[in-house]
Amino acid sequence: MSLSEFDIIARYFSAGFPQRKDVLLGVGDDGAVLAVPEGQRLVLACDTLVAGRHFHADTDPAALGHKALAVNLSDLAAMGAAPAWFTLALTLPAADADWLQGFAGGLAALAAEFDVALVGGDTTRGPLCMSVTVAGLVPPEGVLGRAGARAGDAIVITGPLGGAALGLALLEESLPDMPPAPDAAGLDAALACLHRPRPRVTAGLALRGQVHAAIDISDGLLGDLAHILEAGGVGARLDVDRVPCHPALAQQVADEDLRRRLTLAGGEDYELCLAVAPDRLQRICADLRAVGCQPAVIGTIEAEPGLRLVDAAGRPVTLALDGFQHFR
Ligand code: ADP
Ligand code: MG
Repeated sequence: MSLSEFDIIARYFSAGFPQRKDVLLGVGDDGAVLAVPEGQRLVLACDTLVAGRHFHADTDPAALGHKALAVNLSDLAAMGAAPAWFTLALTLPAADADWLQGFAGGLAALAAEFDVALVGGDTTRGPLCMSVTVAGLVPPEGVLGRAGARAGDAIVITGPLGGAALGLALLEESLPDMPPAPDAAGLDAALACLHRPRPRVTAGLALRGQVHAAIDISDGLLGDLAHILEAGGVGARLDVDRVPCHPALAQQVADEDLRRRLTLAGGEDYELCLAVAPDRLQRICADLRAVGCQPAVIGTIEAEPGLRLVDAAGRPVTLALDGFQHFR
């Protein structure tokens, strides 16, 4: 039995997702009609996952459904927006019922958690690829962005890094000093970081209007922090030994340089990186802990452009990041 495009939409993407009163017309018409509340800003973000580029084609489809939405919710979190609606452009090499069931299940579970409605999409045949566009709402004074960091601000991240990079490295068996039999619990924890990232939506809501700059860490801390520095016309000093690494990484990777590289440049952890005025730091860290984050102060914004890495003793650190793309 082969499923047509319309069978796929009807079976997997029409029911089972959160219903919202502000969806006046959803899946089934030529476009979605949504009621945007007066006085709110609409925030849009789009992220695409391509097989072979962003994930292995044989990845658990439920994890892919989760991640396709999670990476988009993470973008909304970095803007301080409350998720409301999303669309899904799905390109499939073949209509595999088991795969679609798993994918739609993972997608729907995360959508339910954040009450975000699937309001439309596109279904086509081609190399496996999933593109989600998500829309969220934020009051004008609550909008967060990359620009606005000032000299003297503390640099804060919402949790430990490097778990997803470890998961990918273990999956690809690309760690130079990988232990012969990786600890099973550590492997599971690292793979969960890679496959089931937790978007920091509640943190984004708690931070509305409270920080000078915010970005989600999708490409690695160093790269994403550089965006904040560039947007703000500032520089920073980063205390590499104060950047917490995921416990599985601490456990699995003894080599300090490799651990630092995975932590600082690994990517796909989807924590937030923030520039916070010193007089708000304590409150903001308490607010972040209250929503389940493990905030860490990892450096300071400085007027002089550039990113300066130092260790616990204040000595300059250089990392061999050439060829590091391999881990991303
Ligand atoms: P059109 O030809 O008007 O673009 P389609 O036949 O592509 O319409 O889609 C029919 C309906 O199903 C539209 O409402 C569209 O938004 C929705 N849709 C298509 N693919 C998906 C999908 N993967 N997930 C959710 N909705 C989808
Ligand atoms: Mg269409």
